[in-house]
Amino acid sequence: MSDAVLDYDQVLEQFDPVLGLEVHVELNTASKMFCGCATTFGAEPNTQTCPVCLGLPGSLPVVNAVAVESAMRIGLALNCSIAEHCRFARKNYFYPDMPKNYQISQYDEPIAYDGWCEVEVDGEPYRIEIERAHMEEDTGKSLHVGGATGRIHGASHSLLDYNRAGVPLIEIVTKPITGTGDKAPEVARAYVAMLRDLLRALGVSDVRMEQGSLRCDANVSLMAKDATEFGIRSETKNVNSLRSVERAIRYEMTRHAAVLTGGGAVKQETRHWHEDTGVTTSGRSKEAAEDYRYFPEPDLVPVAPSRDWVEQLRSTLPEPPAQRRKRLQAEWGFTDPEMRDVVSTGAVELIEQTVAAGCTPQTARKWWMGELGRRAGEAGVELAEVGMTPAQVAELQGLVDAKVINDKLARQAIDGVLAGEGDPQQVVDARGLAVVSDDGALSAAVDEAIAANPDVADKIRGGKVQAAGALIGQVMKAMKGQADAARVRELIMEKLSS
Ligand SMILES: [Zn+2]
Repeated sequence: MSDAVLDYDQVLEQFDPVLGLEVHVELNTASKMFCGCATTFGAEPNTQTCPVCLGLPGSLPVVNAVAVESAMRIGLALNCSIAEHCRFARKNYFYPDMPKNYQISQYDEPIAYDGWCEVEVDGEPYRIEIERAHMEEDTGKSLHVGGATGRIHGASHSLLDYNRAGVPLIEIVTKPITGTGDKAPEVARAYVAMLRDLLRALGVSDVRMEQGSLRCDANVSLMAKDATEFGIRSETKNVNSLRSVERAIRYEMTRHAAVLTGGGAVKQETRHWHEDTGVTTSGRSKEAAEDYRYFPEPDLVPVAPSRDWVEQLRSTLPEPPAQRRKRLQAEWGFTDPEMRDVVSTGAVELIEQTVAAGCTPQTARKWWMGELGRRAGEAGVELAEVGMTPAQVAELQGLVDAKVINDKLARQAIDGVLAGEGDPQQVVDARGLAVVSDDGALSAAVDEAIAANPDVADKIRGGKVQAAGALIGQVMKAMKGQADAARVRELIMEKLSS
C-alpha cells in the first residue's frame, strides 16, 4: 500500500523543509581501515578478509595512515577544523554483515568538524554548514536469495560477503539545512554533486554512486510556517544516484505533509527509496544514539595529527569547486544558464575532459547536454554512465569536422558506441556510415532529383533558392543520409544557375 502524498506546491504553502544529509564515502585506499586486506571492488566473495576484519577473537586493529590523511584532506576541503586529538569509538549493534558485532567509528570526537561549503541552484548560492566528517569502517554485504525484490522479505536464505567489511569510510554530516524552500530537493542534489566532484578532485574515492562508494542518507522534516521547532524527521537510507536524492527528498516532503495535514504524526524511522516506483517505504524505527552504547575503542590509540601535518595537507588541496567552476566558465565562454545546466547535470568534468581531448567547449557541450543527455535520461542513468567516454565524443566530433560524417550520421555512430561496437571510427567503418564524398555519385543523385522535379527546378532557376530544400531532402534520402548537405546544395545551385 502506498502512502498518501500532498501536492508539492501545497507542501510549500504550509511548511518549510529542513534537511540533514549524511554522505558516506568509501575511500580508495589500497588496504582496509584497520587491516592489510585489499579493497578491490567486485572480487570473489570472502577472498579479501583476515582475522581482523572478520572480527576473530584476539585480533587487533591498526589504523590505516593513508585513510587518516584522506579524512583530513576531506575535512580541510570542506573548511573544517581538524581535531588536535580524537579517538575512535565502538558503535554496538548486531547485524549479520558486521562480524565484530560492533562497528569502529567516531562518536563525540570526529577528526574534522565545523566546516561549510557553498552550492548554487538556479544561480542562487546556498551555504551548507558541515557538522562533522568522521572516520569509520564499512560493513559487509548481505545478499538475500529467493525473494522477488532482493530484500530480506520473501527470501529463502541469505549469503554474506565480508570483502567490504572494514573498508575505510568517511561520513560527512551537515548541520540542519534550512531556508531552501521549494528548492530543497535541488539543493540536496547540488550538494551531493558538489561533494562528488570535490572528492574526485581530491583523489580520495572512486565516488561511483552506482557501486555504493558514495551514498547519501537523506533526513527530511517539515516545520509548519509558524513553528519554532523542527519537525520529526525520517531518514531515507543509501540513496545511490543524484537524481534519486532529489526525487526521494521531494517524495518525502509530500508524504510528510500529507501525514501532518491529516492530523497525524510523522514517525521517526529509516526508509528505503524505490527507484522504480518513485516512493519510499518504512524500514526500521530509528535508534537513538544511546541505543548504540558508544564507548572509546580500547584497542586503538588516539589520533593526534601534528599541526605541521595538517598544514602540509592543506597545501595539497585542489582548487575549490566554486572557484574552479567560475574559471572554467570564463575559459569556455559559456553563458550563466549554459554553465548552470552543465553543473546541475554533472557534466563539468566530462566537458573538461572532452575539451582536453581536442573538442571545442561549445561542441563538447552540445553533445553532452544534447544527444547524450537525452539518452542518459531515457536510460535513467547519470551522464557519466551513459556509455560514451569524453575521448570518444572528441573523436566523433573530429569525424564531423573532417566531414567524414554529418550530425545525423554521428547520432547513428553514437548508437554503435553505446551498443559496444567500439570507438566512433570503428563504428563508422563497420556500419559504413561515412558520407559519400565522391562527387560523381552525388552529382548523379542531384541530376535524378532535378529530373524528377522539373517544377521545383524551375522555381530555383527563377530565383526561389529556398525551394532547394525539397531537392536536398530527396538527394539525402536517396543517399540514405550519407551525404554532406552543404555540398549537395552547392551541386544543385551549380546545375541550375547555368
Ligand atoms: Zn582484513
